[in-house]
Amino acid sequence: MLPAVSMNSPTPSLIVVRSIQALDPSTSLDEEVDVVIEQGVITRLGRNAADQIAVADHGWELSGKGKRMFPGLIDMHVHFRDPGHEYKEDIASGLAAAAAGGFVHVCPMANTKPINDRANLTAYMKLKGKELSPVGLHPVGAITMGQQGQELTEMADIRDAGALAVSDDGVCVRSSAVMRKALEYARTCDLLVIQHAEDHDLTVGAQMHEGAISTRLGLKGWPRAAEEIIVARDLILAELTGARYHLAHVSSAGSVRLLRDAKDRGIAVSAEVTPHHLLLTDSRVLGYDTACKVNPPLREEQDRQALWEALLDGTIDVIATDHAPHSTIEKDCEFSEASPGLIGLELCMALLFQQASEGRIRWSRLVESLSQGPADLLKLPRPQLKVGQPANFAIFDEGMEWKVERSELASKSWNTPFLGQTMRGRVVLTMAQGKVAFCHRDFDPARE
Ligand SMILES: [Zn+2]
Repeated sequence: MLPAVSMNSPTPSLIVVRSIQALDPSTSLDEEVDVVIEQGVITRLGRNAADQIAVADHGWELSGKGKRMFPGLIDMHVHFRDPGHEYKEDIASGLAAAAAGGFVHVCPMANTKPINDRANLTAYMKLKGKELSPVGLHPVGAITMGQQGQELTEMADIRDAGALAVSDDGVCVRSSAVMRKALEYARTCDLLVIQHAEDHDLTVGAQMHEGAISTRLGLKGWPRAAEEIIVARDLILAELTGARYHLAHVSSAGSVRLLRDAKDRGIAVSAEVTPHHLLLTDSRVLGYDTACKVNPPLREEQDRQALWEALLDGTIDVIATDHAPHSTIEKDCEFSEASPGLIGLELCMALLFQQASEGRIRWSRLVESLSQGPADLLKLPRPQLKVGQPANFAIFDEGMEWKVERSELASKSWNTPFLGQTMRGRVVLTMAQGKVAFCHRDFDPARE
């Protein structure tokens, strides 16, 4: 049987893509062009730019018909479970899933086992990533030792080992005093501080969003207030300290209001939203589907609408998947026993493509929120479709239909509420740092 995907194919010295709809919001590119890549670098780009180029046997010649090219995506919020829980995901499978989703940079969170609260662990993750894939891996260091919320980590060392941001994601930094110190320290280290906003006193035993449906199901609820209380406090601390503060996985309309107000007042804050919070509500929990158990929980329609509005008007800066793989051990059980989280890397673009094709979001805003937006927040160079730049892009086949199933995924886990669904549109080629990071098995450049 063919593997679902092929990774790390050798990179040909010449790749010619003819007549592809290319979009790069950072250079205002949005037209049908030819793109020529030589030795991993974009050397020609423009209408008919490849007219004079003949491709010999060793090169790839691709037709762009029915496809789109956009700058490589960046996911600033993933969980790779390595070290510690490699049966759910490891750095190899995580990076393979990223490449299959069109991502060229990812930031794995620190809640591994042990916690990534020191430079040698950050360095281990970074090095292992480098050996395995051209996709850039930038570990997020913990804010506090052991994510215990008390003693700050040595952020400067963690930064020197390769981290671009710090977060205790999975848990919230509860103490205002610790959060203030963390923001002050991170500011001197020029690190982004990512908060998982949850007042844990208000979410003890919580299984899902607190509302009519949790009451009906008899499940303990996670109120919006638990997020909003922390967001409000953190925005005050961000203003006080002048640090770069980033809110992970915003889920409620109230958080959006607070963010909008802070941004209006010029405070240096940013936020991300996940595809699942944009697409699903708590009604999906009615069948006790553990794949829909996630933290923060899926909320109500009014929240979902507010998240879209905030993404479109820039109040929410970026889309991040919060890719959280779990095995059947954590998911094939009672709802109350199941671990929260779902996978996102390989479904993100297909799910959001549908939204773009239905007119919910412009393509340019979608790509911006998945590429240049996170690049700017992390202070990474923007992946660009531009002559002289290394190839950092994804090619998306709009017509390819595929079914979300285990054998189609590079991730080790398949915990997603979209399992079994047929998707239209798929990333077929990802180039990262000038190298082929992913090539779909049905995308045979020799036959294109
Ligand atoms: Zn989180």
